[in-house]
Amino acid sequence: MPLLMMNRWMFFALGSLFAAHARAQMPQPLMKEDTVKISDHVWAIMGFPNIAIIVGDRATLVVDTGLGPRNGATVARAAAKLSKAPKLFLTTTHFHPEHAGGDAGFPAGTILIRNTVQQQEMEQHGLEIVDRFRAMSAQNADLLKDVHAFRTPDILFADEAKVDLGGGVTARMLWLGGGHTKGDELTLVEPDGTLVSGDIVQNKVVPGVAADGGTASSWIAVLEKLAGLNVQHVLPDHSPPGDGSLITSERNFISDVQARALALKRRGVSAEDAGKQLSVELKTKYADWPSMNVAGLVQRIYAEAQ
Ligand SMILES: [Zn+2]
Ligand SMILES: [Zn+2]
Repeated sequence: MPLLMMNRWMFFALGSLFAAHARAQMPQPLMKEDTVKISDHVWAIMGFPNIAIIVGDRATLVVDTGLGPRNGATVARAAAKLSKAPKLFLTTTHFHPEHAGGDAGFPAGTILIRNTVQQQEMEQHGLEIVDRFRAMSAQNADLLKDVHAFRTPDILFADEAKVDLGGGVTARMLWLGGGHTKGDELTLVEPDGTLVSGDIVQNKVVPGVAADGGTASSWIAVLEKLAGLNVQHVLPDHSPPGDGSLITSERNFISDVQARALALKRRGVSAEDAGKQLSVELKTKYADWPSMNVAGLVQRIYAEAQ
């Protein structure tokens, strides 16, 4: 469809999807097997995206696959090096290809766990977004060339799945509502108090609601539930790790943008103008954030308030 025929909503929906995946359009380094320690039982590959490897005495859990099977195989090798036992679980923060599109690189016996909302999104939009990623760069096209289907989860859960990894290590996989997507999954590792947060809690990154994702309000509701979980360490997917205060920071930022956007909307300011104005204002207030473009988020806040 020619661009001029797109209606306003479609234009902004595409805009926010592209903003969320702007980094995917640039060639990304391939996953490496190098890991950094986040807490007693949690290691991470720092890359696009960051991948969590949670190690117990009897089993290991990996959160996210990397983009395409070649990266998935690298992640699986890194997990095998850290593991104390061969049993391997895999889960994914959300259905986007750099998080879930490398499942074919994992060993055949890997046990895939996912929440039902995320699985529905995977079935409805998974291959469609793989196609969009293929079109973004030659590297993406190569990494995704054999991805024509995804593994079927071995375990599906509604709100929570708890896995005992042995040696006192448990992983609680939680679906608390939508934010970046509808099926965002959070993994809380005990006794470490480590949260693998996906896009839901980032470190100084403007939240991106994907085209068919949640809303600013549903994202805030998820963060309010997380605030009660005594989180000590946070490993986000696209920003550096931090402590539990990142949860409050994320909530405060989204609430701040929401309140300012709704105030401008009440005064009759257009979504476009509000996005531009707030990007400038917030750049001053949040001066240490690497970039500040809230146009997509403001558009979603306006749409939610219609
Ligand atoms: Zn995403
Ligand atoms: Zn991502």
